[in-house]
Amino acid sequence: MTPDIKPLVAGNWKMNGERDKLDQLALLAAGLDAELAEKLDLAVCPPATLLYVATTLAEDTPLMVGAQNCHAEVEGAHTGEISAEMISDCEADFCIVGHSERRTDCGETDADVAAKVKACWRADLTAIVCIGETEAQYDAGEAESVLRGQISNSIPDGAEEENTVVAYEPVWAIGTGKTPSPDDIREIHAFIREELAERFGGHGERMTILYGGSVKPSNASELLMIENVDGALVGGASLKAADLLAICEAYRKT
Ligand code: PEP
Repeated sequence: MTPDIKPLVAGNWKMNGERDKLDQLALLAAGLDAELAEKLDLAVCPPATLLYVATTLAEDTPLMVGAQNCHAEVEGAHTGEISAEMISDCEADFCIVGHSERRTDCGETDADVAAKVKACWRADLTAIVCIGETEAQYDAGEAESVLRGQISNSIPDGAEEENTVVAYEPVWAIGTGKTPSPDDIREIHAFIREELAERFGGHGERMTILYGGSVKPSNASELLMIENVDGALVGGASLKAADLLAICEAYRKT
């Protein structure tokens, strides 16, 4: 945790969830009691097909909603794409950009990610920018240089704590059940904080840095209390409201 940064737990449903999954959203909204909502922000990023229904369900509750990706342009001939403005029109608060699955599956480059971040800002969305090294890069001791490059090239000038959240997600920890050791996470998050502070000054010092990669109820307390870990981006464990709420419980006594 970082003093004065309200933690954020964001659930990334990925390509999971049809309308019958909306009951999980209702359970989340009901489970996020006032005491917990004071301690952390909780957001869910469902598939685009459920976005507007999700924001409607979350209306008048502390639960926030985000999208998983956007196109950089406002509109036009881009079949199958969704603009940040369309996401904003659905009344979402966040948009994940640069998730490693998109970098791998869709060949998104740092420059593509930076353009999407600017699109989010243009549409008044907070961008959750994902960065993280592969297992080969980790094994080769290249994690810091990879992250430095991703921070320089995926996060445009103008990033502030209000418009940008950084999610450190080691690619080898996503969906694998493996996590870096708490000491490794402490070290890498301190490195990310230094890089952000150097680039964005006080804004970098106040920017939310999430950890993502196999966070679950059983490891949440240990991982989320680490210095400069200001919350979590949660994949698999966000699909069940009870699991995501159990992760949030790590903050109740803070
Ligand atoms: C993710 O995809 O952002 C993620 C962190 O997944 P998981 O929690 O399943 O590792």
